[in-house]
Amino acid sequence: MSRARLILLNAALGPLDYRVPPSMAVAPGSIVVAPLGPRQLVGVVWEPERLPAQEIGDNRLRPLVHAYDLPPLGAPLRRLIEWTADYYLSPLGAVLRMALPSSGALDGARAITEYRATGHVPERLTPQRAQALERIGERLGLIRELAIVGGVSDGVIRGLVKAGAIEAVEIAIDDPFPAPDPDHGPPALEPAQARAAAELRAAVEAGNFAPWLLDGVTGSGKTEVYFEAIAQAVRQGRQALVLLPEIALTEPFLKRFAARFGCDPVPWHSGLRQSQRRRAWRAIAGGEARVVVGARSALFLPYPNLGLIVVDEAHEASFKQEEGVPYHARDVAVMRAHFEKVPIVLASATPAIETRHMVEIGTYRELKLPDRYGGARLPDMAALDMLQDPPPRGRWLAPELVRALEANLAAGEQSLLFLNRRGYAPLTLCRHCGYRFQCPNCTAWMVEHRFTRRLACHHCGHVMPAPNACPECKEEDSLVACGPGVERIADEVRDVLPDARTIIVTSDTIWSPAKAAEFVARMEAGEIDVVIGTQLVTKGYHFPNLTLVGVVDADLGLAGGDLRAAERSFQQIRQVSGRAGRGGKGGRVLVQTHDPSARVIQALVGGDAEGFYAAETDARREAAMPPFGRLAAIIVSSEDQAEAIETARRIGRAAPRVEHMAVFGPAPAPLAMLRGRHRLRLLVHAARAVPVQDIIRVWLGALSWKSSVRVSVDVDPYSFL
Ligand SMILES: [Zn+2]
Ligand SMILES: [Zn+2]
Repeated sequence: MSRARLILLNAALGPLDYRVPPSMAVAPGSIVVAPLGPRQLVGVVWEPERLPAQEIGDNRLRPLVHAYDLPPLGAPLRRLIEWTADYYLSPLGAVLRMALPSSGALDGARAITEYRATGHVPERLTPQRAQALERIGERLGLIRELAIVGGVSDGVIRGLVKAGAIEAVEIAIDDPFPAPDPDHGPPALEPAQARAAAELRAAVEAGNFAPWLLDGVTGSGKTEVYFEAIAQAVRQGRQALVLLPEIALTEPFLKRFAARFGCDPVPWHSGLRQSQRRRAWRAIAGGEARVVVGARSALFLPYPNLGLIVVDEAHEASFKQEEGVPYHARDVAVMRAHFEKVPIVLASATPAIETRHMVEIGTYRELKLPDRYGGARLPDMAALDMLQDPPPRGRWLAPELVRALEANLAAGEQSLLFLNRRGYAPLTLCRHCGYRFQCPNCTAWMVEHRFTRRLACHHCGHVMPAPNACPECKEEDSLVACGPGVERIADEVRDVLPDARTIIVTSDTIWSPAKAAEFVARMEAGEIDVVIGTQLVTKGYHFPNLTLVGVVDADLGLAGGDLRAAERSFQQIRQVSGRAGRGGKGGRVLVQTHDPSARVIQALVGGDAEGFYAAETDARREAAMPPFGRLAAIIVSSEDQAEAIETARRIGRAAPRVEHMAVFGPAPAPLAMLRGRHRLRLLVHAARAVPVQDIIRVWLGALSWKSSVRVSVDVDPYSFL
């Protein structure tokens, strides 16, 4: 190969050709360094016939600078990158970036210098230095990483190094990971589990593309079943990938994995230190990392020898990436399994309607686990009508729920109150003049966080101290909180159950695997009586002594009015209910609602999942909504409102007329302002057979707009923000 076509790690560039120096050998998939103007960029060699580029004569080609001594990206991964770029209308360079780490890992340095506290207290201990040392504790990391943990500047950490309070340590990054032993802790499976495990083992052995839905009620032992498929992949010397939704929740998972396989899997998530990330990437690319457990970003890594993919909690909305390349990891995982020719298992107690539909039309096969493991019963569910039996004024827990909490506390059992709303109150207003605190960057109300005495925007992260006086009418102590968040419910629990030991579980309190582990340990030690939590507590946890779940506001999720509102509510409440009664004691779930006759509530209380899904599926079919039709959102944003409106209208006017396709808008996006940008949305709705991506590509490709305007396309949108 004397010339090579590259995709460079730069989303703005198309494919470019280079000369391969005689001393260098490259093949499709090779990772190389190429010159671009005065700079050098990492790129990957691609098959020229798959990537049309401007033809340039041999004599004008610039030579490649370097080829890394790394295995080339495999053909299945290259096909996946092409498919993802094409389907989600994203640049190849942007998708490729998800497969490659920082160049440090490519270089193959054997060690990286990290820093840690020595225990020596510097003579000059400023408040900043004290804060940094306290927060860093025994942590290791780069200067930058420690500065972030410590909440100080890099300079403060460097000063601490000079003062001898922090020292440099060499971390070897080529240390091998332990190999999972497929026969370490064989499980005791119940008959339904054993049958499902046998099917999956056979599928891994056959080594063909085969999509499976592993549909089991909460507590039915789905994890043990797919562990057997992983064991089979390991026995065959292949790699297995498990995708999990919330990385803070992996602690209980890791424990179970270690009990089954005798060691930890290789983790991949945004919380890794750079040294951990490099070590993991190299082990994955080299094939030594046998089982990888990761967040959605683990999906694009270069596994040379993949034998199985598992997507656990496959219904979770957090598999949808909203920033950068807006892909859905569940759907892309199925495509990766297709290109790799391996089986994929989607595990869920509440599968998405899209996934169920694939089973109905025979594309996916289904394995059902109808019973809870060890004969544990599903909890009893009841609706509490908040109009019939309302809480006292200014309170949010109905009398019957409070009585149930009291009884549970007296019996020495644990309770969980679920409310998917962080902070103290979702809205703060002035009782004197009616002023409402709104985020200056977004169309969103500021949420009061009483612990930190701040108001925060949950969309852009803007925070401000909670003022004593109203900024509008200057009246002091006039601000009141409207509606409850978890912090306010925790206050109410402390009032009605003064002896109960409580904990709040949200992304504000459980922000690292270590915090999650601490929470689990305290629950298991019986140090907590009542958990008050957001959707962070709805999955993964197994607490045998937790016997009561109270859903504080079952109507909350239904308010948004988007396509999946009812489905998401149903899934969330089913999942949180699944936390109750996982031991031998049985459990009880009380659902507070203002509309006990709503179909979601009826289906939940009646345990009629099938009926609910059937009705939802029919409604989608009738409206030709996914999976029976296609949706794509075109979002136009600018800091200048007039510019955003003008561009969005121009795009709308240029919409092509296509049979079985309609374009709605432009209309202000539901968050008409986000992070200081004005946003408009056009919604494309089409029949399944319409090639929406091709149409949008041609449509937008013929238009241009100022560089201050951003136009992005979200294919199969989940968030209707
Ligand atoms: Zn006021
Ligand atoms: Zn904001």
